[in-house]
Amino acid sequence: MPSGRVHNIINTATYGVIAAAAVWGSQQQLIVITPVQGLAFSAAYAAGTFLLSPDLDLAEGRVDSKRRWGWLGFVWVPYGRMFSHRGLSHTWLLGPLTRLVYLGLMLTIVWALLSAVWPALKWPPLGPSEFNLTWLLPLALGYYVSQWLHLIADGVRPDHGMRRGQQKFRQLRGKARRLSPQKSGRWK
Ligand SMILES: [Zn+2]
Repeated sequence: MPSGRVHNIINTATYGVIAAAAVWGSQQQLIVITPVQGLAFSAAYAAGTFLLSPDLDLAEGRVDSKRRWGWLGFVWVPYGRMFSHRGLSHTWLLGPLTRLVYLGLMLTIVWALLSAVWPALKWPPLGPSEFNLTWLLPLALGYYVSQWLHLIADGVRPDHGMRRGQQKFRQLRGKARRLSPQKSGRWK
C-alpha cells in the first residue's frame, strides 16, 4: 500500500496532466471550461487529495491525511473508529460519500452550536438558486477523480464493495450452515 506521500505525488502529477489536457483542449476549442468550473474541479480535487483521503479510516492513529487538518484532526478520530481500514471507506462510490456525509454532519453540529450562541446565523449559507450543476458537476468530478486515483494506487478494484458484501454473505451462510441442525440443501 502506498504511503500518504506517494498518494500525494501520484495525485499531484495526475492533476498536472489533467490541467495540461484541459488547457490544450480549450485552446483547440474542443471543450469549454469556465473559470468557475476549473476552480470547482481543482478545489474539490485538492480537498479530496489532501483533506478527505480514504486513509482517514486510520484516523484513530497517526496518519498523514489527519495531520493535515492540524489541531482539527481529532474530528476524524470517530470516523477512523467507525470504518475498518480499506473497508467501506475504500469503495468507489459509497466510500467517498461516507467522508462527505461525515463532514456534513460535523459541520451541522458546529453550526447548531454556533447558532445557539448567535441566532442571526443563516443556514444553509447558500440559497437553493445558487446551487446549479454547472459548478456542482465539476466539483463532484474533481472530488471523485482524486479518490479513485487513491483507490487505483491502492490496487482496489471498482467492485471492491460488492466483493466484500459477497464475502460477508458467504461467511454468514457458512456460519448458518454450521449452526443448522439438518444438513439439507436449504442454504445452497
Ligand atoms: Zn488507502
